[in-house]
Amino acid sequence: MRQNIRLIQKRQVANGTMAFYFEKPAELEFRAGQFCNITLINPPETDEEGNTRGFSLITAPCEEDMAVATRLRDTAFKRVIKQLEIGTEVRFEGPYGNFTLHKAETVPAVFLIGGIGVTPVRSMIVQAMHDKTRHRIILLHANPSPSYAPFMVDFEQLAKNNQHFTFVPVATEGAPDDWYGEQGRINEVMVKKYVPDLNLPIYYLSGPGSMVTAMRQLLVNMGINEDKIRTEEFTGY
Ligand SMILES: Cc1cc2nc3c(=O)[nH]c(=O)nc-3n(C[C@H](O)[C@H](O)[C@H](O)COP(=O)(O)OP(=O)(O)OC[C@H]3O[C@@H](n4cnc5c(N)ncnc54)[C@H](O)[C@@H]3O)c2cc1C
Repeated sequence: MRQNIRLIQKRQVANGTMAFYFEKPAELEFRAGQFCNITLINPPETDEEGNTRGFSLITAPCEEDMAVATRLRDTAFKRVIKQLEIGTEVRFEGPYGNFTLHKAETVPAVFLIGGIGVTPVRSMIVQAMHDKTRHRIILLHANPSPSYAPFMVDFEQLAKNNQHFTFVPVATEGAPDDWYGEQGRINEVMVKKYVPDLNLPIYYLSGPGSMVTAMRQLLVNMGINEDKIRTEEFTGY
């Protein structure tokens, strides 16, 4: 569908990272994990990349809100969206994509995610918990430090309330003394620590191309069948 929608709220969800809440189109039907295109209408500045970007929906179909989130880099699009006044209209197109949770509930889902790649993952996990599916879900989410990790509170709460979900925050550059997560880049030792039977799950990788490539290489080197790897690459990072 294609529709103009208004900005309702902006919220910082991590260092340099903002969530944008929009009016949810009444007719919108989507699956958790899908993305949309957002186009700025008559922005005060633009560049050769144009006024449209693809963003995964961070909210799940079961939630009332509809939002996307992004790292606020110094590009024309990001400068404009950061300053967008509440009530401003943008053009919504979507939903698109098939980065969605597999149906078979006996097959675990393992998410190996870096930074902003977590956007579709929040939607998928919130919906799975809401539907009380029996998927075993394990999320390893790497960020330079905890302050760069979007939705940490959401994931901690979901893991507390749901025995099927394990949340492992990973700090690659620095963490406080009382850090309960892992430290360093996601590696073979970490994956083996949390995934008991390596050949059983479907692995989900999303985010900037370099992160997705690195995680795919890690899994392939560990002998994981590539048919069990699903990816969503965020172009433009
Ligand atoms: C299916 C899909 C889902 C996506 N979901 C999300 C999402 O949920 N959240 C999200 O944030 N993005 C998402 N993206 C990516 C998003 O569409 C943008 O491409 C991305 O946010 C970058 O936009 P930009 O305006 O910052 O950079 P652009 O203006 O698009 O960048 C243009 C070029 O300049 C380079 N560049 C710009 N700024 C810098 C910088 N500071 N440092 C280094 N290089 C730079 C880029 O590498 C790129 O080659 C998704 C993309 C796809 C295809």
